Amino acid sequence: MSNGSQILVFKDMGLVSQVFDEASLGSLHGHIAVGHARYSTTGSSVWENAQPTFRATVHGSLALGHNGNLVNTAELAAMVAELPGEEHVSRSGRTAATNDTDLVTALLAGHPDLSIEETAKLVLPSVKGAFSLVFMDEHTLYAARDPQGIRPLVLGRLERGWVVASETAALDICGASFIREVEPGELIAIDENGMRTSRFAEAKPKGCVFEYVYLARPDTSIAGRNVHLSRVEMGRRLAKEAPVEADLVIATPESGTPAAIGYAEASGIPYGSGLVKNAYVGRTFIQPSQTIRQLGIRLKLNPLREVIQGKRLVVVDDSIVRGNTQRALVKMLREAGAAEVHIRISSPPVKWPCFFGIDFATRAELIANGMTIEEIGRTLGADSLSYISIDGMIEATKQPKDKLCRACFDGEYPMELPDPALLGKLLLEAEIKGGQQPPAVRGKPTSGSDLDGVQSLLGGAGAADALRRP
Ligand code: SF4
Repeated sequence: MSNGSQILVFKDMGLVSQVFDEASLGSLHGHIAVGHARYSTTGSSVWENAQPTFRATVHGSLALGHNGNLVNTAELAAMVAELPGEEHVSRSGRTAATNDTDLVTALLAGHPDLSIEETAKLVLPSVKGAFSLVFMDEHTLYAARDPQGIRPLVLGRLERGWVVASETAALDICGASFIREVEPGELIAIDENGMRTSRFAEAKPKGCVFEYVYLARPDTSIAGRNVHLSRVEMGRRLAKEAPVEADLVIATPESGTPAAIGYAEASGIPYGSGLVKNAYVGRTFIQPSQTIRQLGIRLKLNPLREVIQGKRLVVVDDSIVRGNTQRALVKMLREAGAAEVHIRISSPPVKWPCFFGIDFATRAELIANGMTIEEIGRTLGADSLSYISIDGMIEATKQPKDKLCRACFDGEYPMELPDPALLGKLLLEAEIKGGQQPPAVRGKPTSGSDLDGVQSLLGGAGAADALRRP
């Protein structure tokens, strides 16, 4: 938050509601602010990596929030190490933060001869991967989006101000009207003179299709398409592609609900509520450890016995990543008296890792890697299992196929990826522990340590090829 003469950063670990209360919010005064709830990808979940990241500059200071994940972290670390002053930050020549975002902040703050805006135009073309950025100095708010526009970023207008947010739903909540999306490759600056825009790279749109399937809020619209309606349509198409005789369609709450509604509508099978979700437990696949994840599944859902007893069920879910949720679910539904359990998934099998901000799993952990759909169905204990086709999913988003990233489903990555040893969650931690420069600086990739399972990722069939694909 900037009051025009200085920036105050307030951040901590935990949910937004645990970090901010009336008193802490009341202590923040100013006319420009950025905020971000971090979902850790590159860099561990520690305070130093919480956002906004911060740097002092010769002109003042800089705070930055980043949605997405970068793929050339090692290269950026090498660029940061060359900056005058950065070697004084710590004895190892690096700051305590170990995430990709902090490197971008350092680069943006690292050119004392240029303004932040000029620096951004110079630096952002070198940043590769998914980045929807908001950053600020004492006087100006900036927003930038990667040339592929992988993650969403939108611009809104308040009566007396501007808002930039990841999703249109956030604009609705603060009463701002939607103006437009920040374009892929665009840099926006907003100050007392209003808004100005420039381009730091040519737009090559490849929006993440998984935003429509699961990630984005249902009340958000991306590229003009409402997310909830996309999910209902995925359900309708799934019913046509994978029909089954059954008595009741239920959803895995809540992300499977719109697709279940669509499935019921197109199949004529009644829709009902068969599972109750504990609202206090977070999304399961984004929790970091397997133990907590398994506990999370048991804590998360409870079957409504009276509704499902003796019924042939169609259970609609948005995706299967490791299969833990669905395996526990089938067991629970059978114990609660279901006569048959048919699983229908409103996205295709997830076979490839995501390097753009979703910490799915390594290839070795993905249940669809190396198993047929029938085999997966058997390991889940289901009577049948079907997924929507890639084309069915894409048609439901109403976006042209070539404008979407769908790499986790088909392995067609929207950009060239570096050597696998230069990717991974703990890349910068590994470097600091060894007291060494990043791999790119040493001129050869690291070996030996498993960077977030990158080695096991390579062990999967065809994974090395995946990393070389354009
Ligand atoms: S790989 Fe999948 S989750 Fe990652 S950006 Fe592409 S479509 Fe989205």
